[in-house]
Amino acid sequence: MTATTTAAQTTATPAPVARTLIPAHGPGAAGGWRRLLTAVPAHASSTRDLEGDWLDAGATVQLPVGALVVAVDHHHGPDRWEITALRAHAEGLHEVARWTRRSPLGRRETIRLRALLDPAAAHHTARTLTTPNRDSGTCRRCGHDLPSGTGLVHHTPSGTVLVCRTCPARPARLPVNIRPGRCAVCSGWVAAKDGIAVLIGNSTGDGRYQPVHRVCPEHPLPGPPLTADAWCLDCHTPVPAGTGYWLRGPHHAPGTCTPPPDGLPRWIITIPHNDTPWTTGTVRRIHHTPRPGEPHLPEGLPGGRIIADTGHMTVLAHVLDLRTTQRGRTLALVRAATWTEAAPLLAAELDTALKAQPDGGTFLARAVIERLHGDRGWVAEITGHDPRHGLARHFLRPQTDYDNADAHGHTGVLDAWTLRPRRVYEVSRPIGPPAKNWRDIRRTNPRARVTEEHRAFVRVTADGDIVEITREEAQAWPSAALEWMS
Ligand SMILES: [Zn+2]
Ligand SMILES: [Zn+2]
Ligand SMILES: [Zn+2]
Repeated sequence: MTATTTAAQTTATPAPVARTLIPAHGPGAAGGWRRLLTAVPAHASSTRDLEGDWLDAGATVQLPVGALVVAVDHHHGPDRWEITALRAHAEGLHEVARWTRRSPLGRRETIRLRALLDPAAAHHTARTLTTPNRDSGTCRRCGHDLPSGTGLVHHTPSGTVLVCRTCPARPARLPVNIRPGRCAVCSGWVAAKDGIAVLIGNSTGDGRYQPVHRVCPEHPLPGPPLTADAWCLDCHTPVPAGTGYWLRGPHHAPGTCTPPPDGLPRWIITIPHNDTPWTTGTVRRIHHTPRPGEPHLPEGLPGGRIIADTGHMTVLAHVLDLRTTQRGRTLALVRAATWTEAAPLLAAELDTALKAQPDGGTFLARAVIERLHGDRGWVAEITGHDPRHGLARHFLRPQTDYDNADAHGHTGVLDAWTLRPRRVYEVSRPIGPPAKNWRDIRRTNPRARVTEEHRAFVRVTADGDIVEITREEAQAWPSAALEWMS
């Protein structure tokens, strides 16, 4: 106890530390060990009684100045133990004692080691900075293969990193570029193996090879050539495969964009899934949020309106082309419809808007849906347009009535919602009978559906009746409601 107090007082100023190399095993050694010695107990008579951290031969370790390190090398035929005691100094380890014995460390040496211990030895700790790599691996800096023992493992607070002791210098240029990329000279695209590669940056460190054309072309493409027909992001007209390039999207070769002669704005939009089928050559209402850098909706287009501050807009558009991406999304290339093309749709929309006109109805309606074998219905109010899902929904919370439920709650549990006039809702209702093996389905997945589902869009009439409407009417509603409100 007294010793601890004394030590704490003497270490009030942090002890200086030394960066030391733990000696490797001597030539011909069959085995051995290295250890930081922190205590030699009174009864100590052999190695196993000593105390202190084990150290790796060949490691670089941070030790307090004055720390005592013991290194033992074991040689065969005849058996011989080389024991060295080393003291940590600011400039490294100095030998302070050495024994050669026919048997392992014994009582005489442990007594001598105790005498050599620094008064603060009990508080000494070792921090390993690097160790030779036990397992083979590759250099994190240069990618060189490093068989066991040839590299250095750096021990950092966030893990270990294997690197060469000195990374080999790499050639300044390679005869062929393995990877495609942009030319270091002209910034044009170089396909894999179409050019050479030059080293940019440090030849022994983290330099990278970059492709260079053998002869830079007069009109280089800034990205890889297109392998399939596409729509140009700049002029929104088709680019035949093999003529344009890809740079965060398809483009015509520089200087070859041909803006369409009609001068009407064009968009590339994602078709909401589960929408009614789209056909080229038809006119329909589209919804679109401009991408960064894409101009907002110009004024005066048929049926055109900006709906949200994001620039989210709707307009009547002529479908020019359709395409399915590799990820299964369907895209449409559309242009603003002319007034002649838009006239029939504008008339139909006016009809719908008149139907949706506020009619003074104040009757609330009650939608009641029975739960079937645990499957519930839901009611969501359509609140507007959603660029991804077509329609934005707000799910309503039901009131639940268990009065008529059977003992297991399989039937007779009623959920009820209040619907208001002048709003549009989507309703989902479970339909019996359940699947024959519904109990098995539930056992494996308690949340699985076991009944069919019927979905419909509805609204409430002036008399308080709930009537089904089409998806098109439901889609027209948020636009029409905005119209009536403004
Ligand atoms: Zn390396
Ligand atoms: Zn080039
Ligand atoms: Zn173009």
